[in-house]
Amino acid sequence: MRAMVLPGPGSPLALEERVDPQPAEGQIRVTVSACGVCRTDLHVVDGELPHIKYPIVPGHEIVGRVDLVGPDVTTHRVGDRVGIPWLGHTCGICRFCRQGTENLCDHPRFTGYTSDGGFATHTIADARYAFPLGEDGDDVAIAPLLCAGLIGWRSLVMAGDAERLGIYGFGAAGHIVAQIARWQGRAVHAFTRNGDVEAQEFARRLGAVWAGGSDQMPDGPLDAAIIYAPAGELVPAALRAVRKGGRVVCAGIHMSDIPSFPYDILWGERQLVSVANLTRQDGVDFLQVAPKAGVRTQTTAYPLAEANEVLAKLRTGQVLGAAVLRP
Ligand SMILES: [Zn+2]
Ligand SMILES: [Zn+2]
Repeated sequence: MRAMVLPGPGSPLALEERVDPQPAEGQIRVTVSACGVCRTDLHVVDGELPHIKYPIVPGHEIVGRVDLVGPDVTTHRVGDRVGIPWLGHTCGICRFCRQGTENLCDHPRFTGYTSDGGFATHTIADARYAFPLGEDGDDVAIAPLLCAGLIGWRSLVMAGDAERLGIYGFGAAGHIVAQIARWQGRAVHAFTRNGDVEAQEFARRLGAVWAGGSDQMPDGPLDAAIIYAPAGELVPAALRAVRKGGRVVCAGIHMSDIPSFPYDILWGERQLVSVANLTRQDGVDFLQVAPKAGVRTQTTAYPLAEANEVLAKLRTGQVLGAAVLRP
């Protein structure tokens, strides 16, 4: 197999030939056909997350086909198309797992972070965390659904029944969530990097009723806002944009420091919450909703070996929609 490997913090990924991995009990081996590139991959490459297992193969928006099953696996067969998300394993016994919040598990494994991911020709997954995808839809188009879509969905649920919804950061997650929110009858307000006219146009094409820079105020108070961009200064901006009792959801795994802000922008029972990871039920729910909502992802596919260049594009905001690697 071939993989783009991160040897240590801050170094570029290196293309490596490796011995084909063998699935252990409960595991499947998957031939990767597409793997989306997520903002979290940048945080991994930049060493901004704790406890990264070096060397690591990033990538957690994997679409592929089972090509080998472990000894006791009965849920998947060779040839099945599966999606492998960020949540790679949970312990099943901690208080969070027992309470139905396995996204907060005390002893989790995460794909492309603490176990090798999908920037590769092959990967190993715990069968219980691999979603069956069926045969509808294109591999590249589906890949961004596995994280941007899935964690986007969880953050949208967290936003409650907000009718006037703000989305800060209109990239891979934003453009998927906007389509679902619109399908649900919400009024989407898209906030992009200041002056990013292309992303604002893109948001309007996907049904946003308002699009502007993140330093702008919307055309009226919002009921809730979701922040996908990893910029702490968006927190006070979003709090200023929501009404009394409104909610601001931080959906990223990492964010730069939040600047201090006056209490009166939180006052009025505004809520500030974060979303962490996903549960398998989120995946089941979202993969049912996405086709009903007619979600169409905007993707650009690149060869696996160009992973470093793609990450650089993502860093500087040069990706419209989502980037996907193909081995
Ligand atoms: Zn647990
Ligand atoms: Zn992700």
